[in-house]
Amino acid sequence: MEAQMRTIETLREAIRGDVITPADADYDTARVVYNAMIDRRPAAVVRCADAADVIAAVRYATDNGLDVAVRGGSHSVPGFGTVDGGVVIDLSPMRNVRVDPGAATATVGGGATWGDFNHATYPFGLATTGGIISTTGVAGLTLGGGIGYLARGCGLSCDNLVEADVVTANGEAIRASEDENADLLWALRGGGGNFGVVTTLTFRLHRVKDVYGGVMFYEADRAGDVLRFFRSYIEDAPLAFGGFPAFQIAPPLPFIPESRHGEPFIAIVACWSGALERGENVLKPFHDIAPVVAEMVGPMPYPAMNSAFDALVPKGLQHYWKANFVTELTDEAIAAHETFGPRVPYVSSTMHLYPINGVVHDVAPDATAFAYRDANFAEVIAGMWLEPADNEANIRWVRDYYSATAPQSEQGGYVNFMSADDHDRVVVNYKENYLRLVEVKRRYDPSNVFHLNQNIEP
Ligand SMILES: Cc1cc2nc3c(=O)[nH]c(=O)nc-3n(C[C@H](O)[C@H](O)[C@H](O)COP(=O)(O)OP(=O)(O)OC[C@H]3O[C@@H](n4cnc5c(N)ncnc54)[C@H](O)[C@@H]3O)c2cc1C
Repeated sequence: MEAQMRTIETLREAIRGDVITPADADYDTARVVYNAMIDRRPAAVVRCADAADVIAAVRYATDNGLDVAVRGGSHSVPGFGTVDGGVVIDLSPMRNVRVDPGAATATVGGGATWGDFNHATYPFGLATTGGIISTTGVAGLTLGGGIGYLARGCGLSCDNLVEADVVTANGEAIRASEDENADLLWALRGGGGNFGVVTTLTFRLHRVKDVYGGVMFYEADRAGDVLRFFRSYIEDAPLAFGGFPAFQIAPPLPFIPESRHGEPFIAIVACWSGALERGENVLKPFHDIAPVVAEMVGPMPYPAMNSAFDALVPKGLQHYWKANFVTELTDEAIAAHETFGPRVPYVSSTMHLYPINGVVHDVAPDATAFAYRDANFAEVIAGMWLEPADNEANIRWVRDYYSATAPQSEQGGYVNFMSADDHDRVVVNYKENYLRLVEVKRRYDPSNVFHLNQNIEP
């Protein structure tokens, strides 16, 4: 019989990584997550070095009846990566990436970030769909779906996940692939962290190296023109075009006239991953919508594009987000964006309207857990600001904006953009796939050990 992990000492002896408790000097560093609104005090943070450490940590938690939080990149807005009085399974030491250029795959540790991933794949001229920010965790983003610059041409991140190693609730290490535990692979492609701790993920890679992209700013009062243009442009835009409209306060950067710093604009963020020499031409129509007040576009390595906005969203901000899928970007919705977008209250806050058409639509709604294959956009209103004293005003902006656009949207939204108060939306976020997710949950985690997530109850 397997040894039980009843005491913290047994756990410490059993693992290669670190066990950090309130008695340790680095406890206050170890318990911090990205969203500064979340201030929790776990009984232990277990920094895992490998899958064996994860198995020991899961057993320690279940033997002692403690809550389990799983943390990779730590970006969860609701703070799912930590828990009062429970065990945090921190995978951040497990960030190795191994590229197989022949097979065009990469196998990555459960704690890697997209920065780690891009760094490893770029020299081979390969990439897969990640998000917009390089500090986000590969596992957390992929397990919820994974929307980013390359999605229209390469699919969601979860569509490129071909295999995963998973430690289940009973401390068993299993593989999920098309041939082994295929139901688990289906659920991991969008079902979030509900089914176990993913220690490695293997992705299909695509030929992407340097891209042509950046950001173009337009006057906020031209938002209607920009959004109407984007609505029709994106319908049949080349698949190598990724990008999205955003409301953005101008940061103090040299390419923006100094007199305009701090003012709100509507922006188009663009990423062309096709032939570089076509890039300038592809972005030309965006210069004909309205005068471009400021822009920074050009050729750059894909990892540079994927980290271009990192500095706008440092660790330690307050976060409150709301999200919906959008099938038709109606004139009424555009009117709501024109009203609320320019009121964006802080330089890190934004509204992004990510296109999720193209090859994302080629996958059947029931082929993966990610159900909204007919939606054309994932809208997120992301409130991110520095001072807790400003919480009320910033949360109000997110809620008012959301209330104005929600009637023009689908009922469900992207699980990775949900806040803690969105739990009652889990069923609609998965539509027809929800019941099948419950079945898979019952098979792999019948007592809901992994419940700190947008939870699918067994
Ligand atoms: C600044 C910012 C930018 C973002 N941009 C994008 C974007 O462009 N596209 C997009 O799709 N999403 C984006 N997101 C949302 C992001 O996908 C989610 O916040 C995601 O949960 C973050 O994963 P993480 O590993 O960084 O977070 P963590 O807080 O570490 O993990 C979040 C949850 O994911 C699960 N999880 C993480 N790792 C594992 C694992 N190895 N095994 C099992 N479960 C795990 C757990 O349930 C965990 O609680 C962004 C978020 C932020 C804050």
